Amino acid sequence: MRSANLPWAHVRNGKKHLLSSFQEFGLADPIARALAEENYVTPTPIQAQTIPLALAGRDVVGIAQTGTGKTASFALPILNRMLESRIKPLPKTCRVLVLSPTRELSGQILDSFNAYGRHMRLSTALAIGGVPMGRQVRSVMPGVEVLVATPGRLLDMVQGNAIKLSQVEFLVLDEADRMLDMGFIHDIRKIVAKLPIKRQTLFFSATMPKDIADLAEQMLRDPARVAVTPVSSTAERIEQRIIQVDHAAKPALLAEILKKETINRALVFTRTKHGADKVVKGLARAGIEANAIHGNKSQNHRERVLAAFRSGEVRTLVATDIAARGIDVDGVSHVVNFDLPNVPETYVHRIGRTARAGAEGVAISLCAGEEIAYLRDIEKLIRISLPREDRRTPGHRDTAPKPTQHRGGRSTSHVHAARTGEHGAGAANPGKANRRRRRPASGSVALPGARHESGRHEAPRPQSAGSNGGKDGGLQGVAFLQRDNRAPHSNRNPRPQR
Ligand code: AMP
Repeated sequence: MRSANLPWAHVRNGKKHLLSSFQEFGLADPIARALAEENYVTPTPIQAQTIPLALAGRDVVGIAQTGTGKTASFALPILNRMLESRIKPLPKTCRVLVLSPTRELSGQILDSFNAYGRHMRLSTALAIGGVPMGRQVRSVMPGVEVLVATPGRLLDMVQGNAIKLSQVEFLVLDEADRMLDMGFIHDIRKIVAKLPIKRQTLFFSATMPKDIADLAEQMLRDPARVAVTPVSSTAERIEQRIIQVDHAAKPALLAEILKKETINRALVFTRTKHGADKVVKGLARAGIEANAIHGNKSQNHRERVLAAFRSGEVRTLVATDIAARGIDVDGVSHVVNFDLPNVPETYVHRIGRTARAGAEGVAISLCAGEEIAYLRDIEKLIRISLPREDRRTPGHRDTAPKPTQHRGGRSTSHVHAARTGEHGAGAANPGKANRRRRRPASGSVALPGARHESGRHEAPRPQSAGSNGGKDGGLQGVAFLQRDNRAPHSNRNPRPQR
């Protein structure tokens, strides 16, 4: 039996106490009513573990991905504790600070706080990069209870005296591993240095490599540790297939797949923004409607495209990794990797977009000769040898580069990646863009290539070469939740743009 289906809380009187409903948390009435309206009945495993601890005032470090219900696992106890001592925030301050890596995720977190706090007259604000600062500065001027922020923009606002962090009582770090990948470590440290020592901190990360564990160690006080099911349970529900194909034949093959498979919603991943646009054009020529979502698109465009994808009006969305990250769309039946990612963990994040809420999903990866090294890294990480179908033209096979041996015997797929020029600008000059090298469990080295896309995120501050990401526990996957059969609060409450 998968523990994902077993809602359980912490150990009480030496016994594992089963929590089968939200009522058992004893949440305040306004919150309980909001949950009933959201049709939340059973706590998810991460909620069952985290909520009682957080309600008791403990710091918590949680290993959980988006899709596990982790937002409610921190938002609900925080709102409940705030209700216990409701005070009007001082001007230019906040009581709750949530740090998240991207503006999409920040918007979704804010939506969740607004949804769960809808009967509390909650004051909330966003501080996210990539949009003008003026409105955000004005929105925090009277003081807010909850501020959701990306680190760079928050720091700019702190430095511009638009917000003071001296009154923060609750700090949440969401997707800590992603924030470190994006180079936000220095910003985070600067922000944390400005916070009161006496606070409650809830720290979430999809993975817990040593550098993240160290960061948590420094920031948390005697934290309780919670985790949800390892990645294998996600992978088990996803039918994963590799199709080896010549690079030039990928567009036609993608069109064939989208026509042949029974698609509810398909998320197609490309490594670059330009690649995403090209794929959409190619599909249009094949008579398939698709939209692209990436950092060069306006916020309006992104919202329109997402709405069309959510409603099922356009069933194919072509996305870069960063654009897709944090976007909460359920009912994705197929993930197609038009390009294989050069960071193996990214593959796991990508395929995790399907097979939510115990549903089945299909992940198809188109692998050209030059991507074989990436495939090997992925297989090492997930410890599965993926079934391969060979659609390469005989005699016209792309040559698979032999991964160069580094000192210590690690493969250097990233070196090739930079050479092929398939990444964004960042990977073409990995030394400049991001010096952090990942060391997955497999022992291979890969660079998080086009991790940030100009114009979409705050420019991450440069990161020291020393912050290495040796994985210690592998990826943690989840039983993903689905929003389809509920009225999604993000649709009802359009994301506030402050
Ligand atoms: P998250 O991992 O926080 O992004 O949540 C994923 C999705 O699950 C969101 O659509 C939430 O609204 C939904 N969700 C979270 N907790 C529950 C729950 N206990 N019951 C039903 N849906 C939930």
